[in-house]
Amino acid sequence: MTAWSNRTAAEGKAIALVPTMGFFHEGHLSLMRSAARQAGAVVVSLFVNPIQFGPAEDLDRYPRDFERDSALAAREQVDALFAPEAAAMYPEGFQTRIAVTELSQGLCGAGRPGHFEGVATVVAKLFHIVRPQVAIFGEKDFQQLAIIRRLVRDLDLDVEIVGQPIVREADGLAMSSRNAYLSAAERQSARCLSRALRWGRELAAGGETDAGRLRAALESMLAADPTVTVEYVAVVHETTLRPQQQIDRHSRLALAVKIGRTRLIDNGLLFAPEQG
Ligand code: AMP
Repeated sequence: MTAWSNRTAAEGKAIALVPTMGFFHEGHLSLMRSAARQAGAVVVSLFVNPIQFGPAEDLDRYPRDFERDSALAAREQVDALFAPEAAAMYPEGFQTRIAVTELSQGLCGAGRPGHFEGVATVVAKLFHIVRPQVAIFGEKDFQQLAIIRRLVRDLDLDVEIVGQPIVREADGLAMSSRNAYLSAAERQSARCLSRALRWGRELAAGGETDAGRLRAALESMLAADPTVTVEYVAVVHETTLRPQQQIDRHSRLALAVKIGRTRLIDNGLLFAPEQG
């Protein structure tokens, strides 16, 4: 991979990297299209990163379809699909971890200990292997995006980080490879996430400034469906990710729920032109 990147750089082309875990949907494809607009060469990495999964999580059953992913990437302006084996990324004796300490604590970090260390470590490795000038990430995982931005600043990495808006299904559900786990009934229940985002925005637009009250209202709405277990409903500052008491123009509403065995997340600015 690095030899390919060096040859591409020698041809005077900038490289844009799109890190993914595969099982592509329109969200992934939108990142690939953004990458093609940013640089002369596009690399998509496809790696289900074992060190970002907890022992009780879904590493083994995470959806995979390399043939389909290759065909979808081939239809986009993707120059290289980098799909390393886990043993090549983490050979015997591997023990280094990168921790972006504060940003990793709350939200998904609270329920998934070690997750963001696994993410930061694999992204740093991918940056060193692929040597991109630009890397594209989705706002779907906005805590991850904030952590990568911090990682790049803190370690003086010479990579520009670009965030892309969430791509949604027609009924509002944020696209996710994990949506494939949902039964038909669970798929109906999953609409609660984008409904909660929309309602949160309506409350904010209607003058609600108390984050605690807004959270309580959304929590009870989500919990009204017995198949939904709320992990968190949070109102945080968009860049520091610190919980806010008062809603303002920087407030991001972040949600995580479990529907059956499937963990789903969503988020959006409380005052945003985008629709949930
Ligand atoms: P994943 O394969 O789920 O690890 O996601 C790879 C990249 O695609 C990450 O930067 C995600 O934030 C991004 N992504 C996943 N789902 C969406 C979506 N619905 N819209 C936009 N980006 C997404």
